Amino acid sequence: MANNVPITVAKGDGIGPEIMDAVLYILEEAGAAIEPEFIDIGEKVYLAGHSAGITEDAWESLRRTKVFLKAPITTPQGGGFKSLNVTVRKTLGLYANVRPCVSYHPFIKTKHPNMNVVIIRENEEDLYAGIEHQQTPEVVQCLKLITRPGTEKIIRYAFEFARKNNRKKVTCFTKDNIMKLTDGLFHKVFEEVAQEYPDITAEHWIVDIGMAKMADTPQDFDVIVMPNLYGDIASDVAAQVAGSVGLAGSANIGDQCAMFEAIHGSAPRRAGQGIANPSGLLHGAIMMLVHIGQPEVAANIHNAWLKTIEDGVYTYDIAKGAESVGTMAFAKAVVERLGQKPEVLEPVSYSKPQDGEQDKQSVPHDIRLRAQQTQTKRELHGVDVFVYNTELTAEQLGQKLEALAGPELKLVVITNRGVKVYPGGFPETFVTDHWRCRFYGQDENGTITQAKIRKLLERMEAAGIDWIKLENLYKFDGQLGYSLGQGQ
Ligand code: NAD
Repeated sequence: MANNVPITVAKGDGIGPEIMDAVLYILEEAGAAIEPEFIDIGEKVYLAGHSAGITEDAWESLRRTKVFLKAPITTPQGGGFKSLNVTVRKTLGLYANVRPCVSYHPFIKTKHPNMNVVIIRENEEDLYAGIEHQQTPEVVQCLKLITRPGTEKIIRYAFEFARKNNRKKVTCFTKDNIMKLTDGLFHKVFEEVAQEYPDITAEHWIVDIGMAKMADTPQDFDVIVMPNLYGDIASDVAAQVAGSVGLAGSANIGDQCAMFEAIHGSAPRRAGQGIANPSGLLHGAIMMLVHIGQPEVAANIHNAWLKTIEDGVYTYDIAKGAESVGTMAFAKAVVERLGQKPEVLEPVSYSKPQDGEQDKQSVPHDIRLRAQQTQTKRELHGVDVFVYNTELTAEQLGQKLEALAGPELKLVVITNRGVKVYPGGFPETFVTDHWRCRFYGQDENGTITQAKIRKLLERMEAAGIDWIKLENLYKFDGQLGYSLGQGQ
């Protein structure tokens, strides 16, 4: 058909090919106007020597179709293989991971009969930037990067999603009582963007208690948006407590491309038996159909699936010992119910995007520009010099650095793992070989130049102090752009 939308399809590994065949069969029978282009990804591609699990040809197809329906893959054990998911997400800029977690009481056993939560996870930043270093024999670090434009995009996406899907509340989870700058920025941008959506309730929870509450009373939540790591954990918790980790689908959305999948893996032990549940991937495919502007087909399939579940047609994982059907028989049961609606469970409906094009979220394109404009005056105000030291005590190191600071700089504090150890440290404090030495400028404005920092480093080197890295201390519009040391 001329109007078919080209999509890139990967059948993946393990149970992947079986569940993908079942899903494509349902899509075809439901009249989805798609033109699948098949690519190979995963285990055999890794083992053929492509360390990212994907080939140039596959990238070419993805960049052309911009829509990816992906079955789970097996990541070979052992070093050297990069996570394909992370590679695809970051390369294609898929910044929003959307995971609806729904319970189907009384047809599927659940702890929470009224659960219907959508987790929206930031997909590219945070600790998943993957920037890690060993700095000393005892200390490794992972850089947690939260950007204003990245945060604004995901938060705006969450509010737009809520509005389009008739959801009433967006909750934000962060740990900004501890990470005041990184999570603090995420929370701050959440509050700013929320002002533009007065029709939607906005609330914030500290992530630990928020996640506990979500696992206990998920009916109190609607859409939840959070940074990458918390979202990774929370979305699995939410899917699991809904009672249906094998049923949940996931969408990874970017400004230009999108990827749709099940949240589960390739279940290699179940492969080739024709018994796996295709529902998780089907839910991913339903989100894809909405995304490519085929909401009626999406709703028809979704309602037929709900009716199938209501009629007690289950694969083994849901039947839990009772009578079950295989993958293809389940798919046929869904096809037989196309055109029907569930009677007990709430039927779904999806609307066509207003512009008639793909279901892109209206995230403004000038985000980066505006983010830059919000911070105007930047002053270099001090420097943290990180030092590798196993010989000197905190007191000895402090005295040595006071002398090296010279008239232009002042040693303010030394911390070890973030806790003040000089001046006036406690002997009880455990110390490692990694010391953070903070210097402030001494001129009348309290500022400092990069040249002065270079000279300080030269003096430190000459005195045998092994500096391992620097962090410049800036003020942005007069506000401290760094955290104070504990006890500073
Ligand atoms: P898994 O999700 O594959 O399996 C966990 C358990 O759930 C298995 O015991 C299996 O019996 C069951 N299960 C999962 N999906 C099912 C389905 N559709 N129907 C019936 N039962 C199902 O997790 P795992 O065993 O930890 O991982 C296996 C492989 O999958 C690993 O190589 C892992 O790296 C990979 N993985 C891939 C993705 C992905 O491609 N998106 C996601 C997670 C894991």
